[in-house]
Amino acid sequence: MTEATGIVGEFFSLKEDTDADLLTMQCGDFYEFFGEDAELVSEELDLKVSQKSSHGSSYPMAGVPIDDLTPYLKALVERGYRVAVADQYETDSGHARKIVRVVTPGTLLETSDADAQYMAAVVDGGEVGGASSDGYGLAFADVTTGRFLVADAADADEALTELYRFDPVEVLPGPEVRTDDDLLGKLRERVDATLTLHETDAFAPKRGAHTVREQFGTETVDRLSVGEQTLAAAGAVLSYVEETGAGVLASMTRIQAHHGDDHVTLDATTQRNLELTETMQGERDGSLFATIDHTETSAGGRLLKEWLQRPRRSLETLEERQASVDALSTAALARDELLDHLGEAYDLARLASKASHGSADARDLVAVRETLAVLPAVAETIESTPALADSPLSAIVDRPDRAAARELRETLEEAVAEDPPSTVTQGELLRKGYDAELDEVIERHEEVREWLDTLAEREKRQHGLSHVTVDRNKTDGYYIQVGKSAADGVPDHYEQIKTLKNSKRFTTEELEEKERDVLRLEDRRGELEYELFAELRDEVAERAALLQDVGRALATIDALASLATHAAENRWVRPELHRGEDLTIEQGRHPVVEQTTEFVPNDVRMDEDRGFLVVTGPNMSGKSTYMRQVACIVLLAQIGSFVPAEAAEIGVVDGIFTRVGALDELAQGRSTFMVEMSELSNILHTATEESLVILDEVGRGTATYDGISIAWAATEYLHNEVKAKTLFATHYHELTGLAENLPRVANVHVAADERDGEVTFLRTVRDGPTDRSYGVHVADLAGVPDPVVDRSREVLERLREEKAIEAKGGASSEPVQAVFDLGSGTMQTGSQDRSQAASTDGGPAANDAAGGSLDPETEAVLADLESIDVNTTPPIELVSRVQELQERLEE
Ligand code: ADP
Ligand code: MG
Repeated sequence: MTEATGIVGEFFSLKEDTDADLLTMQCGDFYEFFGEDAELVSEELDLKVSQKSSHGSSYPMAGVPIDDLTPYLKALVERGYRVAVADQYETDSGHARKIVRVVTPGTLLETSDADAQYMAAVVDGGEVGGASSDGYGLAFADVTTGRFLVADAADADEALTELYRFDPVEVLPGPEVRTDDDLLGKLRERVDATLTLHETDAFAPKRGAHTVREQFGTETVDRLSVGEQTLAAAGAVLSYVEETGAGVLASMTRIQAHHGDDHVTLDATTQRNLELTETMQGERDGSLFATIDHTETSAGGRLLKEWLQRPRRSLETLEERQASVDALSTAALARDELLDHLGEAYDLARLASKASHGSADARDLVAVRETLAVLPAVAETIESTPALADSPLSAIVDRPDRAAARELRETLEEAVAEDPPSTVTQGELLRKGYDAELDEVIERHEEVREWLDTLAEREKRQHGLSHVTVDRNKTDGYYIQVGKSAADGVPDHYEQIKTLKNSKRFTTEELEEKERDVLRLEDRRGELEYELFAELRDEVAERAALLQDVGRALATIDALASLATHAAENRWVRPELHRGEDLTIEQGRHPVVEQTTEFVPNDVRMDEDRGFLVVTGPNMSGKSTYMRQVACIVLLAQIGSFVPAEAAEIGVVDGIFTRVGALDELAQGRSTFMVEMSELSNILHTATEESLVILDEVGRGTATYDGISIAWAATEYLHNEVKAKTLFATHYHELTGLAENLPRVANVHVAADERDGEVTFLRTVRDGPTDRSYGVHVADLAGVPDPVVDRSREVLERLREEKAIEAKGGASSEPVQAVFDLGSGTMQTGSQDRSQAASTDGGPAANDAAGGSLDPETEAVLADLESIDVNTTPPIELVSRVQELQERLEE
């Protein structure tokens, strides 16, 4: 491929061995990029390119100093590149280099982001055959914390939902998934991840199962009871982590599966609609998570977010969390004390991962030590506060092996210096008393240093010299420096090594000997300390599982305290949870909107006989807010949180589904009617009797009559077949009529007050339908010009009375040209004044339509008749349409 030799040649040959996008190679004190890589890197990161010649040609070259590599790697990886790193090592004949690591978005350890950083694999069950062949398998690993999760997904939609939930930074698609353009397209749309093609063999199910067993133990794997395709995904992730050389496999101690009865479906669209972790505009602020997050630690924040994204259904789990939140919300002083303790905690899961990778320095071990000390402090606060001691909190702090944690902490306390440097090779990392041999070296080292430190004084005294200093530098080593005036009086055994302007430098045999001693001892101390430190670090790495347990316990306390803080500060109450159908919320509020608005609280009452609420009300009255408020309250209840209400009784649900009509979504520039319908279809397929469904103006994305029909039919289906608890906000007034025919449907409306032609939104939800639309009043409020508002009122009146309205002509203001017929929902072109129609339209079609001697109504009926498609219209509808047309003709 290239004729380059030497370093450049070595670079290109290494480059051929890796499928990483970029290669950087250590050359002495620099990491260098060559050729196209150099050009790309210089463009991305503004690095200077120089030319390196080799074998007569010249190659672009860009480099960064060894110590600066990390930020550059981070920047490249964050831009989506996978970067191979080749290190230099010594050989008999000089230097050689080999690739030690491939840094990718999912394996980047040097992150400063508090969020989880997941790498995922997704495998189509079709590829592994066998019983579970129709599902998908998913695995997620966070190399920065060692967290590892797997999930079976029934179909592509569910797989996408999980992927959206974890929001991975890198995805390894299985061999079959790679050719699934539909899935990959959706994945790209929703998740901002680098797609990496990992070797196909790594996805083989047998090999996957084997790898997973080796990593996590046979029993664990059997207990997971996940599909073969899921083990294949897990195996692929493990093999990828190993292959890229992140070296963190040791911190992955535990595998967890997500499925079973406790699971609550929360699909991608719902997560977005409810603005769980970011707003529709993509901002973190203003999301539900940002609103309720008062965690002190990054691990606590991660856990709280995970709770929100994975609500639970088990009453036991939820009530346990509630009891803790309850206790913490009243014990304000103890809570503050806990937060103080937690403020001292570092991210143990991340530290465990760093120790496993071998990149933890002595300061990291100090962080481990200090965080381990937080656990007993937290436990002490809990035990000494009766309300907390009687709550599940005491069990939470007892979950980790506290004795083992204390032992490790004591070891670290004995071993690691109080305030060690961040370099690990230059000593001063460890304490005296930790290791006898080291103590001896330290003692001798300090003796010699002491001797050197006091030498100048001794020389002055002994030889009556003034202006004497003892110092060291790179070229001269240690020396005695004597001022010029005194330099002639130095004793005979002084040996001059240098003359400076105002002084002379000398050495003595004794000083040279001490110098050799000190250098030897420095080396020895550095070496020995590094050895001992590395052993200690390995010991910590071996306790990765313990560190994760302690980290998890502290994070749990933190997340619970955060919920308690929010509840106490915002007057939230503990909801009563049960397995039944009833949902009663008294004076509920929207958790996010209440933060910024004088919120008008609202009641919700749903039960066996009232499981489907049609929500009507003028535009901007608060329908969407009301329904989201219900969804958020149920969701909060199902993470164990208190809720914004005066009282609430909540029957737990197995899934929350929300859909917003395409028109509303279009405003956000995201959706189409097609998407709206496929999402509706998804709900109709997936929701169950125990689900909560929120439909907001669904059907609005198409023509009126289409929309009504769809909304109508969906309501019937949800009511009769799915039987899910449903709230449906609609501006189709027609839907309010459903309450008369469908027993579980009830109407509620958001009240507005109209006085003197002005509308005041009351924001109160009341039983019964709205009497009419307030759209025109809103137009008025919004400052639409008076003539338009007045004319709208007129049109509205006529529409109500006559179910038809003619459109007004241009300048002449005579009624002409078109009639909007409510009976058919179509606009009829036609004219009472032929010449005017012709002059406006001018085309032959207009003449045709206006031709003949039929009156406009008859023509409209004919046009209607023509528009009926006999092949697609159901017979019953055909009959009624014909009947209707006949009636109109009679008129
Ligand atoms: P709709 O869906 O009926 O058009 P929205 O739910 O979008 O109305 O609400 C319109 C505005 O009214 C929003 O700005 C919202 O913040 C505010 N709002 C809604 N409900 C309430 C309430 N109960 N108390 C105070 N403000 C509310
Ligand atoms: Mg709305």
